[in-house]
Amino acid sequence: MRLSRYFLPVLKETPAEAQVASHRLMLRAGMIKQAGAGIYSWLPLGYRLLRNIERIVHEEQQRAGHIPMLMPTLQSADLWRESGRYDAYGPEMLRIRDRHERDLLYGPTNEEMITDIFRSHASSYRDLPLTLYHIQWKFRDEVRPRFGVMRGREFYMKDGYNFDLTYEDAMAAYDRHMVSYLRTYERMGLKAIPMRADSGPIGGDDTHEFLVLAETGESEVFYDAAIADLRLGDRAIDYDDRAGLRAIREEWTTPYARTDETHDESLFAQIPEDRQRVSRGIEVGQIFYFGTKYSEPMGATVSGPDGQVVPVHMGSHGIGVSRLAGALIEANHDEAGIIWPEGVTPFHCGIVNLRQGDGDCDAACTRIEAALAAKGLDPLYDDRDERAGAKFATMDLIGLPWRITVGPRGLKSGKVELTSRRTGESEEMSPEAAIDRVGAIYGA
Ligand code: ATP
Ligand code: MG
Repeated sequence: MRLSRYFLPVLKETPAEAQVASHRLMLRAGMIKQAGAGIYSWLPLGYRLLRNIERIVHEEQQRAGHIPMLMPTLQSADLWRESGRYDAYGPEMLRIRDRHERDLLYGPTNEEMITDIFRSHASSYRDLPLTLYHIQWKFRDEVRPRFGVMRGREFYMKDGYNFDLTYEDAMAAYDRHMVSYLRTYERMGLKAIPMRADSGPIGGDDTHEFLVLAETGESEVFYDAAIADLRLGDRAIDYDDRAGLRAIREEWTTPYARTDETHDESLFAQIPEDRQRVSRGIEVGQIFYFGTKYSEPMGATVSGPDGQVVPVHMGSHGIGVSRLAGALIEANHDEAGIIWPEGVTPFHCGIVNLRQGDGDCDAACTRIEAALAAKGLDPLYDDRDERAGAKFATMDLIGLPWRITVGPRGLKSGKVELTSRRTGESEEMSPEAAIDRVGAIYGA
């Protein structure tokens, strides 16, 4: 992409309304524009990021055997009357009436709708196990929308639902989700810690929230430092191996890690003192086993192998896709701007031409751009007629992890400069070497 032809409305001033770094930087980098309280347009750069996050979520869900689909944003109130949640949900639900006086709502979540789909089309244990998910816009009329896309009213979420015959099967689904979520966040370059969460009126301990540590997080978190060192890395994961998945869940849930809602001082005190950590975190996902809470009142049953008709065991699992955009920046930025992890970066590499209009510089930049594109990468070439300082500032602000700088002096000796946004370190090399290096970083 040529920057001169792109739409990147970068702001010079720091927007006064933004209280946290991610909100500030998303506005300044021209990624989002507020359309209403807690409602945002995703401008081209922000949209690229959102799509990258979404792609990773899709890939990891499907790797775990979960099946993508799409449900509408508008739902019929009648379904929610069946579960009893139409009245229980309160003012966070946006309620709408159509021209025929039918009650609708903008979905805040989809347990009722998915349960209805299941009961309409599945009736036997042979249809199980089943996990369906979608990534769709949600609306929750939050009292205090804030921090940009991190607490929006309209937000983009992956929500998945498992249907199982027995409690044991549902636990296997729970473990599978735990592992697939860990992989998802790790691929994005994020450390998200599963923490025992409050299951509210439903009871049981089978719910975990995934928290990214950040000073600006809304939850207070308490954890054993040992958990922060855990990594899945590139270990092979077999999603059919129940014992293996359970072992990973144990590994991640044995060290103490809880939010303020479930925190237990006496258990916390048992952690060696030098490993006790109190911090803040951003909730980027939650997994939940809730048994027959919806299947029973809504009649989502199957006939078991013995012919008996039983309600299915269910759980629901969410990832805050649009919130992740903010959480990623909270965890990856400095004074100058964003620092994208390679896994999600909206463009793989920036190309800065220090002397636009100079024949050699222009030709070298075009060549590098084409070579990176031929490797399947998306470079962003700053071909504007701007001073070097302004070009560097834009690149630092929008946070592309790698930058190739092309200038007349370097080119005379056949060199360009490759710079890491994260470390700030630059290295001189031939254009070919820079292309190969960037390709190798992305496995291209
Ligand atoms: P919170 O406690 O932050 O209000 P929640 O527990 O109500 O969130 P869930 O129902 O668990 O949210 O939704 C799944 C995920 O969707 C959350 O983990 C979070 O990442 C994301 N999410 C929830 N509410 C919002 C929101 N208002 N704006 C952006 N993302 C959200
Ligand atoms: Mg939650």
